[in-house]
Amino acid sequence: MKDETRLAHLSQDPERNFGIINPPVYHASTVAYGSLAEFRNRYARRYDGVMYGALGTPTTFALADAVAALEGGARSVTTSSGLAAVTMALLSFLSAGDHLLVADTVYAPNREFCDKILSRLGVETTYYDPRIGAGIGAWIRPNTKVVFMETPGSGTFEMQDVPAMARVAREKGVLSLLDNTWASPLFFKPFAQGVDVSIQAGTKYIAGHSDLVIGHITTRNEELYRRVKDCVGGLGDIPGPDDCYLALRGLRTMAVRLARHQESGLRVARWLQQRPEVKRVLYPALPGDPGHAIWKRDFTGAASLFSIVLHEEREEIVERLVSALKLFRLGASWGGYESLILPVYPAPIRTAVPWTEKGFMLRLHIGLEDVDDLLADLERGLSAMKG
Ligand SMILES: *Cc1c(COP(=O)(O)O)cnc(C)c1O
Repeated sequence: MKDETRLAHLSQDPERNFGIINPPVYHASTVAYGSLAEFRNRYARRYDGVMYGALGTPTTFALADAVAALEGGARSVTTSSGLAAVTMALLSFLSAGDHLLVADTVYAPNREFCDKILSRLGVETTYYDPRIGAGIGAWIRPNTKVVFMETPGSGTFEMQDVPAMARVAREKGVLSLLDNTWASPLFFKPFAQGVDVSIQAGTKYIAGHSDLVIGHITTRNEELYRRVKDCVGGLGDIPGPDDCYLALRGLRTMAVRLARHQESGLRVARWLQQRPEVKRVLYPALPGDPGHAIWKRDFTGAASLFSIVLHEEREEIVERLVSALKLFRLGASWGGYESLILPVYPAPIRTAVPWTEKGFMLRLHIGLEDVDDLLADLERGLSAMKG
C-alpha cells in the first residue's frame, strides 16, 4: 500500500471501539490490576502493554505505531516534544566516557544539550562537516558510540549523504541517529537508507496545525526500541493523551498538506531566486543547490522550509522588510498551515565549518495560503527595504 492509503487506515481499531473509526482518547494515571500476582508481574507489560499512565496508553501507542510504520522502522516511542525526542534518543545510547559525532548543522538546541548537559555526564561531542559523507569513518574513535545526522541542516540546508554515513557507521559498530523532521516520514525513509534510529519533531508536519509539541523516536529493531523505552520511561517523559490524539489526526491529512506545501515552497523559492535583493536561496529542491543531487537521489519530496541570504547586511533595514509583511508572521517552529519568517544566525554557533556569508539570513516556511497572495506579501516586504 502507498503512504496516502496507509495514512487513512493506520492505527484504527473500530471492531474494538463500537465501530467508531478514530481511536479513543484514554486519560490515565492509575491502571488497576486484578491480583497481587498480576501486579507483581506488571513489568511484563513494560514494552507491550498498558502498565501505568506515564508509560503510555492505547492512545499513545496508536500514534507510535502509525509513525513507526510510516518511517519504515520496527517500533516507536512518543515523547513530550521534538527536543525531548532528540535528547532522549542520545541519552538512550550514550554513557560516561563515550564519544559522539554530531553534524555541525543540527538543530541548535541539540548542540546546546551536547555542550551543556552531555558534557557534564562525561560524553564528549565532536562536530563534523555535514558534507563529509563516507569520510566520517576517519572521525570515528574506539569509544565513538553514536553518529548524529540531520538533513538538510537546520537553517542552512546542507544535505548529508545519509546512506554512505550509515553504512560506514554500521561497519564500525557505531549507531546512526537521524533527525528526520524536515522530510517528515513521507519524503525520506530512514531505515531503507540504513539508519538505526530516526527522530521526528511531530510538532511540525505531523501535527501540522501549530497547536502542540510532540516527538517521536523510531528504531530499526526491537532491541533498540527497548533501550529507548527504558530511557524515556525511566526519565518519566510522556505526551498528554489529547496531544497524541491531535497528532494522529494531523497525520491523516499529512500527504495532501505536504503536496501543497511542496508546490508552494518551490514556487516561492524560484520567485525569490529572481529577486535582486536576494543573493542566494538555500533549498536542496532547487536545481543548482549544492545538495540537489543527494536530495534527488534519496528524497521523494521537499518540505516548504528554506532560507534566503540577502545582499543587505543591516538588521535595521531587514526590520523594514519583516514589519511590512502581513501574512508571514515572525516566529519559531514551522510545519503548520501558516507561513512564517525567522532570522537565522549560523555564524556564532558553527565550529566545524565557519559560516562566512555576510548577508542577513531569513528562514521561510511556506504555508497553505494562496501563493499569489504570499508573493504579493513578499513583494511588499522586499520593496519596503528601499525605505
Ligand atoms: C523543531 C525541531 C525540533 C524540536 O521540536 P520541538 O517539538 O519544537 O521541541 C527538533 N529538530 C528539528 C529539525 C526541528 O525543526
